[in-house]
Amino acid sequence: MNKTEHFEKSLTLFERASKVIPCGIYGHVTPAATVPGAFPYFARRAEGCRYWDVDGHEYIDFLCAYGPNVLGYNHPHVEEAAARVQRDGNCLNHPTEWSVLLAEKLTALVDFAAWAVFGKNGSDMTTWAIQVAREHTGRRKILKVKGAYHGSHPWCTPGHGGILPEDRAHILEFSWNDPEDFTRALQEAGEDAAGVIISSFHHPIFGDSILPDPAFLKLIEESCHHRGIVFILDDVRSGFRLHLGGSHRHFGFEPDLICFCKALGNGHPISSALGREELRIAASRVFLTGSYWNSAAPMAASLAVLEILEKENTLEHMRRQGERLFEGLRSAAKKNGVKIRCSGPPALPFISFADETNFYRSQHFAAECILRGVFFHPHHNWFMCGAHHDRDLDHTLRAADEAFASVKKHFS
Ligand code: PMP
Repeated sequence: MNKTEHFEKSLTLFERASKVIPCGIYGHVTPAATVPGAFPYFARRAEGCRYWDVDGHEYIDFLCAYGPNVLGYNHPHVEEAAARVQRDGNCLNHPTEWSVLLAEKLTALVDFAAWAVFGKNGSDMTTWAIQVAREHTGRRKILKVKGAYHGSHPWCTPGHGGILPEDRAHILEFSWNDPEDFTRALQEAGEDAAGVIISSFHHPIFGDSILPDPAFLKLIEESCHHRGIVFILDDVRSGFRLHLGGSHRHFGFEPDLICFCKALGNGHPISSALGREELRIAASRVFLTGSYWNSAAPMAASLAVLEILEKENTLEHMRRQGERLFEGLRSAAKKNGVKIRCSGPPALPFISFADETNFYRSQHFAAECILRGVFFHPHHNWFMCGAHHDRDLDHTLRAADEAFASVKKHFS
């Protein structure tokens, strides 16, 4: 069977989508940067660490919906908690008790946090966080890392459409793990520096993940502290995969504000920002709202997620399984005479092919794994979840072994 037949329904749907939806599939899930016809374009359902595409193929999934799936898709306790609340009414005139319960839970988990607010997407929270930094300091400049993703809003989107130079007028960039460049950007911002926003490790698209140098984190933390700049941790991607209390605890630093999304709801739409007591007044002055932002079911789902993560020690499970995946991929690559680089923390692993800059090998490897029922993204970091068990990794590593053999044959 050729690939067009293999993904017949996906491709037909994509053709139909292209007529009624700009680009057919847009944003970060666009298939534009992948090999045409080598990947499923539409999913039908998911359970645990597996999903099924519209053509009925089953995959062990290492993308986890780009992060939200932390416990396993369709987790019975989470779904039950959300459904129970949904029956009472999800979107009402007023917030519900669930918002208070969730804020209490999150502020108890995050060591420096005195308050929490809620939204739907990561971008809602990162954009709001920089506004809080500006409101608190009365200054304008925001410092961010080059190539870091903080969302789809004009000040940070990697897209170009509809963006004015003014949207970025007060955004300064510095290189990850480069103290001199950070100091340069800080000097450039001068007395006008309001906030610094970073992720706890650097995970650029089309690049290896890079863990933080502790001295670099210390420099940012101390500079912010001494100059009264708000230090924002964008924990949208790594939140609840490295440490339950926020990724700063995993890497040992102290931000002032933290943004969560993805894993917080295990697929239910919710994001949150938490901050220090000193930022409470500024937080109350920056308007924050949305049609569905008080909806109760995702908050009940989040509470269930946090409870399960805590009770089942899911973070340790993800770390162990991620390490097993790294080890297995390393030895399968070596056996087949292929050189790979493993990067990122084990709970958010990634591999690339050594001595390659164009990602052709990564694309070939991912496509071969797909045909064997394993979904690896070729150029975006991967995610482990609590439902990746040994038998899933056994199947995955057998598929990877054959896929590496195919890479070796194809590229030599
Ligand atoms: N920050 C980081 C680090 C992210 O990974 C993302 C999403 N990929 C965002 C912010 C934006 O989140 P959302 O897409 O939910 O707006």
